[in-house]
Amino acid sequence: MKIGFIGLGNMGGPMAANLARAGHDVTGFDTADVTIDGVAHAASAAEAATGAQVVVTMLPNGQILRKVAAEVIPAMDKGAVLLDCSTVDVESARAVARQAQDAGLSALDAPVSGGVGGAQAGTLTFMVGGDETGFNITKELFDIMGQKAVHCGPSGNGQAAKICNNMILGATMIVTCEAFALADKLGLDRQAMFDVVSTSSGSSWSMTTYCPAPGVGPQSPADNDYKPGFAAELMLKDLRLAQEAAAAADADTPLGEAAMKLYAKFVEREDGMGRDFSAMLPRFEKRGYS
Ligand code: NAD
Repeated sequence: MKIGFIGLGNMGGPMAANLARAGHDVTGFDTADVTIDGVAHAASAAEAATGAQVVVTMLPNGQILRKVAAEVIPAMDKGAVLLDCSTVDVESARAVARQAQDAGLSALDAPVSGGVGGAQAGTLTFMVGGDETGFNITKELFDIMGQKAVHCGPSGNGQAAKICNNMILGATMIVTCEAFALADKLGLDRQAMFDVVSTSSGSSWSMTTYCPAPGVGPQSPADNDYKPGFAAELMLKDLRLAQEAAAAADADTPLGEAAMKLYAKFVEREDGMGRDFSAMLPRFEKRGYS
């Protein structure tokens, strides 16, 4: 397949490399002038999109996505697919999809879970919103870049699934860290805490797969001095998107809001910037009841 790939950063770079390695004809563009093995270099987003059957975007936010979409949509052939894998607000995803459909294209929002490790290994999970035709055309690409793609319904529903998932993740990571810090103060050994909770009703992915306590449970960023992994500022971005969506949809999400406020404090007023989102545990260790 002839593929244009726009946004070759931490996630997009390895995703584009995997598509090229699988034999696809990939042309990439990034404003940072990145070179990726096996990916041809274009001088602009429109050049990367010209003649492509699928244009993949992997960009920082909705505002940049809207700008790039305005450049690439006029350059794309009718029937081609605009496949956005960035995490953006539901409104931007739906606006870009409408614009693409008006130009005779298929449009999919397909944010990912799995992080940089998953992008490199080709084991991402895609949550996909948009039309069935586009999903069927891009299915073979999802199979290369990831291990699972779930079609969640019309445009915007992929982003909706992503922010709901990450709102649960943010809140469960916080409470798992709180519980470890409380257990410390109650004299409970961290290994015993893990052994009990990981097989009890308080268990979650944050405990069993990404345990925030160093030396306990599986290897995780906690064992690497809380280097990300999934950076606290990226979690903050997703929690803010969840709150924007909740306000727009008139949904009551008090724990999601509390999680967003705590990550905002951690990243913007404390030492959370650039640390893994599980570094909430050392944060709680230093604090008392208030
Ligand atoms: P990144 O900052 O490493 O990459 C973004 C790239 O987009 C950069 O290389 C930047 O130069 C490029 N870019 C910016 N504006 C551009 C433009 N106008 N035209 C072309 N290129 C442009 O970010 P990332 O970690 O690769 O994340 C990308 C997206 O994936 C984000 O939406 C993020 O929320 C999401 N995501 C990231 C992770 C993660 O663990 N890093 C996990 C899941 C989802």
